[in-house]
Order: sequence, then C-alpha cells, then structure tokens
Amino acid sequence: MIHLKLDSDASQPLEVLCLGAHSDDIEIGCGGTILHLAERFPRSRFHWVVFSAAGVRETEARRAAELFAGAKVKGPLCKTFQDGFMPYVGSDVKAFFESDLKPISPDLIFTHSGKDAHQDHRLISELTRNTFRDHLILEYEIPKYDGDLGQPSVYVPLTQDDCQKKVRFIMDSFHSQRSKPWFEESTFMALMRLRGMECNAPSRYAEAFYCRKLAL
Ligand SMILES: [Zn+2]
Repeated sequence: MIHLKLDSDASQPLEVLCLGAHSDDIEIGCGGTILHLAERFPRSRFHWVVFSAAGVRETEARRAAELFAGAKVKGPLCKTFQDGFMPYVGSDVKAFFESDLKPISPDLIFTHSGKDAHQDHRLISELTRNTFRDHLILEYEIPKYDGDLGQPSVYVPLTQDDCQKKVRFIMDSFHSQRSKPWFEESTFMALMRLRGMECNAPSRYAEAFYCRKLAL
C-alpha cells in the first residue's frame, strides 16, 4: 500500500487543531500521531482545546499538552462545559466554535468520531464538521465500555517509541482516571497493536481515524 503524505513543506508551519470533549480524549485518540507530526514538522503548532476541563482535570490537561507537544502547543484552551451535558447546551458550544475556533483556519483537525457512543463526543464531532467545511478532518476513536469501535479508513503507523511515549505520558498526566479499570497501559497499547496489524505497519503499531472527505 502506498503512503500518502501531507502536502505540506516541513519547513513551513503546520497548523493543527486538536479538539477533545474531555481532558484525556486528545491524548488517547491521537497522542501518537501528534508526537509523530511534532517531530516531522518542526514548525508545527497545535491549537489544543478541551471542552470540559475543570479543577484537577484542567491541571491534568495542561500537563499532558505540555508533555505531548511542549512549546508547539497554542493554549491549551480549557473550557468548563459540564461532562455529559454538552448536547443540552449545544448552542453555547456552537457559539464558542464560531467565535474562538473558526478564525484559526487550521491545515489539519483532529476531532471525535461522529459514531462515538458518548453524547459529548458526538456533539463536538458534528460541530467540527459544520464549522470547518473546507478542511482536512480526521476523527479519532476512544475505547470505552459501550464497545463502539468500528472500521476506520485512515491509518498512521507509529514507531514503538512513540507508542510507549504516548502511553507513559497519558499514565503520568491523568492520575484522576487511574481508578477506572480500563484506564491502563494494556488498553491503549492493544488498540494501537490491532490498528497496526490492520494497516501492516512496519512497527506493528498505529492509530486509526475516520475521514469523510479527502482531496488528493
Ligand atoms: Zn471523552
């Protein structure tokens, strides 16, 4: 399988918008790809937005953004929409998209999958697509109890080093989540191993995304 590359000069800034409903979504969904892009595009900038990050979860989100992208992070912008209630204040979330996010005009956007079982994730996905209509959008996946993993269409093979770094950064950043039985290294590595198998990644590991529109 040939590999398509982003049509961007590595010496030029690559503007990436990373959207996560909750603190830890961006890192779980596309943390390895962010590490990969940050290395490949030294002048990249990651506009980092978390919609529900209050108290300790804000502290954790800021720490994680720093670990994953360091000086390349723009933000992070941490909002305090209530976890689980975003669809019920959808007009406020949409207003934030229009006023604060639309002016960014990124080259690449990471957001939630539109088929995600979590209502907050689906809302962020929908608003991403209706706000950014002429942009490359990759929708990431989050493993969860509901069992909503599907059949992604875009794969990013990752080095084992990037995968291990991703998992270490997640475990080091989100202490408040460690009591959840699924929140452990093996969950994150297992999903990347499966996606790596599906795309025959040389390193055996990958992250996978859904893409609805792509121009060659
Ligand atoms: Zn989430």
